[in-house]
Amino acid sequence: MDAVVQNYLEKFGVREETQRFLTKPKKMFIGGAWVPQGDRQSCAVIEPSTTGVITDIPMATTADLDRAVEAARRQFDGGPWRKLKPLERERLLHRLADLLEWNATELAEIESIDVGKSVAQARDVDIQGTIDTFRYFAGWASKLHGRTVETSLPGDYVAYTRKEPIGVVGVIVPWNFPLQTMAWKVAAALAVGCTVVIKPAELTSLSTLRFVELVQEAGIPDGVVNVLTGRGREIGAAMASHPGIDKITFTGSTEVGRTVGHTAVGGIKRLTLELGGKSPVLVLEDADIESAAQAVANGIFFNAGQVCDAGARVYVQRRIHDKFIGALIEYTRTLKIAPGLDRDCFISPLVSALQRDRVASYIEDGRREGAEVVYGGHALDRAGYFVEPTIFTHCRSDMKIVREEIFGPVLVTAPFDNVDDALSLANDSRYGLAAAIYSNDLNLVNRLIPQLRAGMVYVNAHSTIDPSMPFGGFKESGFGKDLGPEQLDHLMESKAVWITLR
Ligand code: NAD
Repeated sequence: MDAVVQNYLEKFGVREETQRFLTKPKKMFIGGAWVPQGDRQSCAVIEPSTTGVITDIPMATTADLDRAVEAARRQFDGGPWRKLKPLERERLLHRLADLLEWNATELAEIESIDVGKSVAQARDVDIQGTIDTFRYFAGWASKLHGRTVETSLPGDYVAYTRKEPIGVVGVIVPWNFPLQTMAWKVAAALAVGCTVVIKPAELTSLSTLRFVELVQEAGIPDGVVNVLTGRGREIGAAMASHPGIDKITFTGSTEVGRTVGHTAVGGIKRLTLELGGKSPVLVLEDADIESAAQAVANGIFFNAGQVCDAGARVYVQRRIHDKFIGALIEYTRTLKIAPGLDRDCFISPLVSALQRDRVASYIEDGRREGAEVVYGGHALDRAGYFVEPTIFTHCRSDMKIVREEIFGPVLVTAPFDNVDDALSLANDSRYGLAAAIYSNDLNLVNRLIPQLRAGMVYVNAHSTIDPSMPFGGFKESGFGKDLGPEQLDHLMESKAVWITLR
């Protein structure tokens, strides 16, 4: 660990157990065994507030993938996991949730140090969301069932359906909410009796490696959960084509998702894609301006804008436009830019130098195309990958900053005159992940909701997420859902059983 990171951890009083975890050699977890780096390549893990090296992680080889898939396959095909009584599976998942809860502070510190995100937000959102997800899906393990059916065929039959787990699930996740997005996929897969091979993003594998220690401590059988740290274009791509994997569940960019999807479908794998977004927000003229401005700012600047369903395009009814933008700027001014471990941090650094430069280059594109920066507009000239929260006005629908996902703290805004215009602007995107409306006119809001082409619609709030509600997009934001009972359908096959009575 670089001295600059060590000093950072000490300055903010990071717990001893967190430091111990961060400094010990990182190993992959295959078939219940810890696999050291050996002669594999490694990749340095950078702390985004200081840009110092925390540790390094092994880069899995395709032979590692074969071993992980074989372990998951063996456990699924013949091991105890699938045959466990549902209440026993439920109990183990609750035990894992307890362990996550007991270790929540450490997990939040790991997530903050690895991703750069606010430690307070990591505890309240990422880690709490992970615990809640395991508890929610634990309960489902004992509530899965098929149907008995009265058929119309001549003769006597008993006809019923069985729900059976799909098999080995390959889990590929991004770096913005590493533990939480992994939990969404893994908790549901385990609840129905699947086994998993997880590949976290190469930038942010640490919380998943700590998680899997807790999986082992919970007594979940060997081979049920396997973790490979490695590069997406090598191990991720190899997962998509691996014949021993029955389903790929992928969260990440639309570009990579498209490639993964092509490969997976080529092998007739089951597939869930949770992809990018550029979610619209409509602020209607009757909205409560102050509270809408706060919620809109939180909806884009939370996690430094590295949120798939961030409210990134804001359309404001012309009569309140200037007043609303004024309130938005005033509130944004109060959001503290600080290192992730600072408990008052709201705007944390971005995850990497690459991401900071990418976002800064979008801001330049916006200026060049004629949009006006009314707040922020620069990467900060100090250690860490910080970019100021940035608000653009005078944005047109053909601008790159309006059409493309920036994945940083950049908000584009434009006025509209009537709700039909607002709807056209909102739906004018290849993405369809989420949308938000700020208004107190319930009649109008209820008329707008069905016309918005988005998988989630938030009214007078943004990114309200609960394990009981499905999460996922329309259009190029993907298909299949995470969370809610809907997700279970994407992890089970329906088997039709016919018994002829004589
Ligand atoms: P990414 O697509 O670059 O990477 C996602 C994962 O795919 C990583 O684990 C990466 O290693 C792996 N990967 C990369 N190339 C691969 C390949 N050729 N084959 C297989 N796997 C490969 O995305 P990112 O930059 O890590 O995350 C940001 C993106 O994720 C944004 O577009 C964001 O909108 C999206 N996202 C979507 C959701 C959602 O639920 N819809 C949630 C979070 C993030």
